[in-house]
Amino acid sequence: MKYAEVQNYLGDAFVSPKRPLLDVYNPSSGDIISRVPLSGAAEVDAAVQIAKVALVPWSATPIKERVQVFYRYKTLLEQHIDELTALITEENGKIASEARAEVLKSAELTEFACSLPQIAAGEILEVSRGVECRVERYPVGVVAAITPFNFPNMVPNWSIPNALALGNTMILKPSEMVPLSARRIAELLKEAGLPPGVLQIVNGGQEAVEALCDHPDIAAISFVGSTKVAQIVYRRATQSLKRCLALGGAKNHLIVMPDANTEMTSSNVVASMSGCAGQRCMAASVMVGVGNTDHIIKRMVEHAKAMVPGTDIGPVISAAARERITRYIDEAEKAGAKVLVDGRNMKVPGKEGGYYLGPTIIDRVTPDMKIAQEEVFGPVIVIVRAKDVDEALRIENASPYGNAASVFTESGGVARYVMEHASAGMVGVNVGVPVPREPFSFGGWNDSKFGVGDITGRGSIEFWTQAKKMTTKWNSEAGTNWMS
Ligand code: NAD
Repeated sequence: MKYAEVQNYLGDAFVSPKRPLLDVYNPSSGDIISRVPLSGAAEVDAAVQIAKVALVPWSATPIKERVQVFYRYKTLLEQHIDELTALITEENGKIASEARAEVLKSAELTEFACSLPQIAAGEILEVSRGVECRVERYPVGVVAAITPFNFPNMVPNWSIPNALALGNTMILKPSEMVPLSARRIAELLKEAGLPPGVLQIVNGGQEAVEALCDHPDIAAISFVGSTKVAQIVYRRATQSLKRCLALGGAKNHLIVMPDANTEMTSSNVVASMSGCAGQRCMAASVMVGVGNTDHIIKRMVEHAKAMVPGTDIGPVISAAARERITRYIDEAEKAGAKVLVDGRNMKVPGKEGGYYLGPTIIDRVTPDMKIAQEEVFGPVIVIVRAKDVDEALRIENASPYGNAASVFTESGGVARYVMEHASAGMVGVNVGVPVPREPFSFGGWNDSKFGVGDITGRGSIEFWTQAKKMTTKWNSEAGTNWMS
C-alpha cells in the first residue's frame, strides 16, 4: 500500500482504533492505496470527551485571536498546494487542474473565516432612554461535520474554518472513500497553531455517523452527501434534539434559449456536465433546450468528443459508480433516447484498471424517463426539449431537488424570469456552475437541503452560533418606561 493505514485524530495524536478496516482505492488505477478504520460509538465518545474539554479555553479565546490560526492555515494551504492537489487526485481521481482549484477554494473559504471578526460583530441599540439591547454570538459547543467523497479537501473546509473561528470544537467524519486529505488538513491546522482537541477526526461510515447523530453532547451537525443519507442524518440528529444542516443530492437543469451565445453556452454546458467527471452537486445534469437549439447541441457534441479521458476528464469514484452510470445510459437508450456522444466502455491506455467514463450526451430524452429524474452523478447530460420558457421551468420545477439551475440567453427579461421562477437555491445566468463565492452562501432548496441556513458564507454564522440577547439599564431614572 502506498499510504499507511488511516488513523483517527484524537487530541493531538493520530491513533489506530481496533476496528475493522476498509480498502481505499485510487480510482485512476483501481489500486488499493490505504485502509481506513470503521469507527463506532466508543471512538466517537472518546473524541467528544476531548472536544468538551478543549471547548472551554477555545470558546473563551477572543475571535480576533482565534482567526489568527486561519490566516496561518490559509498560507499553509497555498504553500502545500502541489502536495494537497496530488493527494486529492490520488484518492478521488479528479485531474490535477480540478484538484488544484479545490485547494484554492479551500483557501478562499478560509479567507472568509478570517473576516468573521468584522462580519459577526454584535449589535447594540439604545431602545428606550438609558436602556440598551445588545446581541452577542456564542458558539453552540461540540459540533460535527460529515462529508462526501467528491471534494475531499474543499467540503471539510466548508465547515471547519467557520465553525472553529466562531468558537466551536469539531469532530470531522470524512468520507471513508477519501480519508487521506482530512489527515493533512488536521496536520496543517496543528502547524498553524490550532490547540489540541479543537478539531478531531473519527473515520468510518454508517456506524460512526449514527453515533455522532445520537451523542447527547454534540450540539450541531453539518452533513453533505446524497439526499437519501441527508434525510436519515437530519431525522436522526434532530430526533436527539441537535441542530442539523444536511445538504443532499441534486439534479441541476440548464435552460438553453435559442438566442444564447453558441460558443460560450456549448463550452459552459459541457464543462459543467463533465468537470470532476460529473461528480459535483452543481454539475449540469439536464439541458432543457427551448425551441431550436440544434446549433448549440452540435457544438456541444464537438466539445465533448474533443475531450480525452485520463487527460481532460478523470475517472468516477468506483467500479460500482461506473456500473450504475452505465446502467442509466443503457436504460435511456432502450427507452428511445439517442446517445449523441457515448462515454461507455472507455479505456485509458496505461490506466486500464481505472474507472473511466467519457463525457456522454443523450438527446431526445423525455421528462418521464428515469435518467431525467434521478441523480446520475457522472459525466452525463440529457437533453429534453421544451417549446417555451414556461414549459422549461415546469420541467425544472417538477424535480424534487433544487440545488442549482441556470439559464443561457442574451435576453435580460428571460434571464430575470428564470431567476425568479426556478425552484432552486442557486441560480445562474450564462453560468454553467453557479456556485456563489464568499461572502455569499452555498445551499440548495427542496430535497437538496434540509435545515435552516446555508453551509458557507454569511448563512453559516447563524448555524454555528447562538445569539444571546442582553438588555441593560445604567441610568438612575426609575419608572420612565414599561421596561423599568
Ligand atoms: P453519501 O451520502 O453516500 O455519503 C456521505 C456521507 O454519509 C459519508 O461520510 C458516508 O460515510 C456517510 N454515509 C453513507 N451512507 C450512510 C448511511 N446509510 N447512514 C449514515 N451515514 C452514511 O454521499 P457520497 O456518495 O459520498 O457523495 C455524493 C453525494 O453527495 C451526491 O448525491 C452529491 O450530490 C452529494 N453532494 C451534495 C453537495 C451539496 O452541496 N448539496 C455537495 C457535495 C456532494
